Amino acid sequence: MKKICTKCREEKGISQFSKSHPTRCKCCLTLMHKEYLKKHPEKGKQYDKRYYERNKQKILERDHIYQMRPDVRERKKEYNTQYAITHSEEIKEQRKEAYKQNKEKFKAQSIAYHNKMRIEHPEKVKEWQRKANHNSLEKMRKTLPDYYVAHTFNLPIQEVRKYSPLLLEVHRQHIRLHREIKKKFNQLKTKENEKSKESQRSKRVA
Ligand SMILES: [Zn+2]
Repeated sequence: MKKICTKCREEKGISQFSKSHPTRCKCCLTLMHKEYLKKHPEKGKQYDKRYYERNKQKILERDHIYQMRPDVRERKKEYNTQYAITHSEEIKEQRKEAYKQNKEKFKAQSIAYHNKMRIEHPEKVKEWQRKANHNSLEKMRKTLPDYYVAHTFNLPIQEVRKYSPLLLEVHRQHIRLHREIKKKFNQLKTKENEKSKESQRSKRVA
């Protein structure tokens, strides 16, 4: 059975007409709908919202399946890495701001997470602590703060700070110099070792 569409005037099969709009073919209806949404974008948004509410579960499931697809995950990962590089400053600022706004919440979250991890993965927490200690020690070795310098020379920090900040500075220079000398010494030692190995090898050959 065939019918003529009142809009495009084409003769089309009955399957091309819907029951709710029997006079116009499905192609014309789609076009009309698109035109309408172009003229009334807010209606489109309302429609999308209603559609979303009605099909929430289905949409979320479909989205989840899509997001879990290996190629999609790979692409997302790449995009995120790239984004983190090109927007690093922005991200840092955003994080700082978010933290400032919800300091208490973040702290509570962090404590809760740590407590949970301490029970479920104690070895991981130990590893974190080890790394954190290592990092802070490395940082101190680089920046040489007063208390670190005082500690290395077995000096009471409060006293030294009170009476002689210059003493701390002298000790700081001392540490740097000592490191410089050690480095040079080690370089010389490795060179000598290599030389002696070389001469032993040539003796053996001869
Ligand atoms: Zn038509």
